[in-house]
Amino acid sequence: MRRVSIFGATGSVGQNTIDLIDRNPAAYEVVALTGGSNIEKLADDARRLKADLAVTAYENRLEDLRTALSGSGVEAAAGQAALTEAAARPVDWVMSAIVGAAGLPPGLEALKQGATLALANKETLVCAGPLVLETARKYNARLLPVDSEHSAVFQALVGEDIRSVERIIITASGGAFRDWPLSELAGATVEQASSHPNWNMGQRITIDSASMFNKALEVIETREFFGVSPDQIEVVIHPESIVHSLVGFNDGAVMAHMGAPDMRHAIGYALHWPDRQDLPVDRLNLTKLGQLRFQDPDEARFPALRLARNVMQRGGLSGAVFNAAKERALDLFIAHRISFPEMAWIVESVLDRFESSDGLLDASLTLDNVLQTDHLARKWAEEAVMQKAG
Ligand code: NAD
Ligand code: MG
Repeated sequence: MRRVSIFGATGSVGQNTIDLIDRNPAAYEVVALTGGSNIEKLADDARRLKADLAVTAYENRLEDLRTALSGSGVEAAAGQAALTEAAARPVDWVMSAIVGAAGLPPGLEALKQGATLALANKETLVCAGPLVLETARKYNARLLPVDSEHSAVFQALVGEDIRSVERIIITASGGAFRDWPLSELAGATVEQASSHPNWNMGQRITIDSASMFNKALEVIETREFFGVSPDQIEVVIHPESIVHSLVGFNDGAVMAHMGAPDMRHAIGYALHWPDRQDLPVDRLNLTKLGQLRFQDPDEARFPALRLARNVMQRGGLSGAVFNAAKERALDLFIAHRISFPEMAWIVESVLDRFESSDGLLDASLTLDNVLQTDHLARKWAEEAVMQKAG
C-alpha cells in the first residue's frame, strides 16, 4: 500500500487524482486531503477514501468540517499552518494541486519529509525554484512534473542525457482569445475568458491560458525543472492540444509527446512512475484528427511571454513578484475591477517598481523572503490600479 496525500483535493487536478485512486482503492492509504470552501466535497471524499485527516484552508470553516466529518473517524483541521502540518505527515507520495503561491509552503514541507512531490502547482517553481530544488536534494526527495507540458518533456527525456538537449518546445492552445481581433480584447468578459477550447480546468488557470500567463509560468517552470537556459525554451501555438510538448536534440531529432487532452494522463504518469499503468484516457485516432497545426505566438496579443523572458533573465525574487502580481491582477479581473489587457499592464508595472527599488529582488531566496515579496507585490498591484484610476 502506498501512503498518499492530496493537496487541493477538491479542485480540478485534485479530483482527477482522486478519480484514479478511486479506481484502485486497495493500492492506497490516503493520509491527508485538503481543500478550501467546498467542505461537503472534501468531507465526502475523506470519508470514502478513509483519510486520516482533512484540512480546509479557511480557519472559519473548521466547525463546518468537523460537523461534516462527525462519526467518520477522520480528523479535521483548518488554516494555512494546519496545511503545512498536514504536509509533514509521513507519506510516500504527495499531489501538490493547490492553486497559487499558497501551494509553496506545504510543498516544501512535503519535500522535507523526503516524499515524492507530484507538482501540478507550477507556482512552486516559479516563486522559489532554486530553493525547492535545493530542499529536494537536501532531503533526498523527488519532484515529478504534473503540468501536461512538463510531463511530456520529462517522458521525452527518459533514457536521454540532458546535455544532448538543444531546445524544449512548449505547446500552447492559445486559449479562449487566440483568434479574437486584438482591438476586442479590452471588452473580454470573465465568462468569455473562463472557457477553454480543449482542457477542462479550474477557473484561474483557464483565464491564465487566455492571457498566456499560464504559458509564461510554464516557461519559467521549464527552466527551473529541467535546468535549461531561457534561450533553449520555445513556445508554439498548437490549437488542437494533442502534442503536449517536444524536445529537440543535438542530432536534430525531435521527440514529441502526444495524447488526448486529459490531465489523468500526466497525473497517472506521476502516480505510477517509473512504471506505466493502464489509464482511463481516450486513445488517439490520428486519421480522425486529420491535421495538427502549429504557429508562432503573437507577442502583442500575449505580453506575458515577454515578461516571463525578463523574469528569467532577472532571476532572484522576480519570479515571486511576477506570480504574485499576476495572482492579484487576476483577482481584480475576476472582480470586474480591471479589463483583460490591464492584467499584463499591472504585472509589468509591479515588476518595474521592484526593479527600481534597491536590493528588493536580490534578497536571498528563503521561504520568508518569498512570502514577504509575494505580499508586497500584491499590495503594489493594488496600488497600481488605484493610481491608474487616479
Ligand atoms: P482549482 O481551482 O480547480 O483547485 C484548486 C484547489 O486549491 C482547490 O482544492 C482549492 O480549495 C484549493 N485552494 C485554493 N486556494 C487555496 C489556498 N489559498 N490555500 C489552500 N488551498 C487553496 O485549480 P486546478 O485547476 O486544479 O489547478 C491546481 C494547480 O494545478 C494550479 O497551480 C494549476 O496551475 C495547476 N495545473 C492545473 C491543471 C488543470 O488541468 N486544472 C493543469 C496543469 C496545472
Ligand atoms: Mg500546462
